[in-house]
Amino acid sequence: MENNSKFRVAIIGSGVSGSAAAYFLHKSLGDQVEIVVFEKEDRIGGRIRSIKVGDEEWETGGSIIHSENQYLSTIVDELGLEKKKHVYNDIGIWSGESFPFRTGKTKVGTLFNVLVRYGTSLVKAQPLVKDMIKKLAQIYFLQEKGEGYTDPESLFKKLGLYSLSQEKSYDYFRRNGISDRFIDEFMNGVSRLNYGQDASMHGLVNLVSLAGASFGGYLFAIKGRNSQICEAMLQNSSAKVLKNNRVTSIQKIEDKNNTKNKYIVTVEDGTKEEFDYIVIATPLEKAKIDFTNLELEENNRLSRPYQVTNVTYVSGKLNPNYFGLMKTEQIPANILTQENENIPFSSIELCKKDKVPGQNIYRIFSRQKLTEDLLNKLFRERAETKSLVWDAYPVLTPAAAWPSFVLEQGIYYVNAMESAISTMETEVMGSKNVVNLLLKDIASAIS
Ligand SMILES: Cc1cc2nc3c(=O)[nH]c(=O)nc-3n(C[C@H](O)[C@H](O)[C@H](O)COP(=O)(O)OP(=O)(O)OC[C@H]3O[C@@H](n4cnc5c(N)ncnc54)[C@H](O)[C@@H]3O)c2cc1C
Repeated sequence: MENNSKFRVAIIGSGVSGSAAAYFLHKSLGDQVEIVVFEKEDRIGGRIRSIKVGDEEWETGGSIIHSENQYLSTIVDELGLEKKKHVYNDIGIWSGESFPFRTGKTKVGTLFNVLVRYGTSLVKAQPLVKDMIKKLAQIYFLQEKGEGYTDPESLFKKLGLYSLSQEKSYDYFRRNGISDRFIDEFMNGVSRLNYGQDASMHGLVNLVSLAGASFGGYLFAIKGRNSQICEAMLQNSSAKVLKNNRVTSIQKIEDKNNTKNKYIVTVEDGTKEEFDYIVIATPLEKAKIDFTNLELEENNRLSRPYQVTNVTYVSGKLNPNYFGLMKTEQIPANILTQENENIPFSSIELCKKDKVPGQNIYRIFSRQKLTEDLLNKLFRERAETKSLVWDAYPVLTPAAAWPSFVLEQGIYYVNAMESAISTMETEVMGSKNVVNLLLKDIASAIS
């Protein structure tokens, strides 16, 4: 490859990881790189998606960013987007019959309720979360130095977090002196909200999930809608973005002199383009991409099971009788739930109070679609109901094998990261890792 020629990079997917890959690549290579982003949908953002309820946009997928998420916090500032703080207050944990735990009206009241119900378990959990955040944050330093890891396992080993990902949360937290009651009620409440899964998830992701309950920092979203992050990163990267272009195949064209292979990307309408490098920024098991002239290793052909999450927005008023209460105002603003097959939802969040007098806006997460019959029981009044179903995130139990960041030299796979943790920030970490690997490959190709 000539020193002065442009490198052509295809990025498949315009979610946060594809957009961040374009952003980081352009930052490092400027005009030396020509980036084409293929997106099968007619919109940008992937699992960051808002819908209109009433006259406002509400997040259905990636919603909350933690203040310690250095990439997204910085990118949001660099691109001039406005942050809006998100606070979870007035939390109640629903057992199916009652609220055995509820936060107090003041911080002191909440602390009192926590101590009475859970003893010192919360105090014991907090340093575990802080320690995980500290260890994970080492990645910013390593990636700034240009480090890239060929697979998530070596990355998390380097951070001292791999063994956590190989242990069920139930075992990990019990081993650290945290009570079953705290795990069953509080932790499962939070992990069912964030991942629709209970403490059979591994310890690492459960600590991340607790951080998402604003342990160790504050939470924010983007004023307007979160998908603006992806749009702004792509715009900044000068990438050519091809919406409504589903990639159907990637073909390797071997270089006979064995210097650098090329790849042909084909989209659904049969159009073909040639690239030097490919970044796959979407879960492979769902992308329906055929590989020609190249064989994927077994771990890269894994079909990870995904957690289905239904997101339902309702403009209306909850029915207090459903919860054995007298008035809607007595219902906690954030209802978390225990793992109990008789509870037909994972969480209910009051997003906005009295938008129109008498009508609040609620977001409900559930594993199954909420039936009309159930919605009629849950709500006293309903003006508008909108729902969307996601294959939301992998089932994050400890797994014997994870995919690699490198499918073969020249083809990188960001979503290998999701086998360990699925959040917007960790996907961006995956993108940075892949861009660092790609930069090293470019450097060796031109040397
Ligand atoms: C309900 C829900 C709530 C969440 N809440 C949070 C949260 O509060 N905080 C947080 O940090 N994270 C949250 N997450 C997780 C977070 O949203 C994801 O981890 C992240 O957005 C994944 O980004 P990605 O770019 O890797 O993948 P995706 O967003 O899935 O992007 C992949 C893109 O590739 C496209 N694509 C797929 N196949 C092809 C093809 N063959 N050709 C071309 N394009 C293709 C898709 O259309 C998509 O746009 C949540 C997720 C869900 C579903």
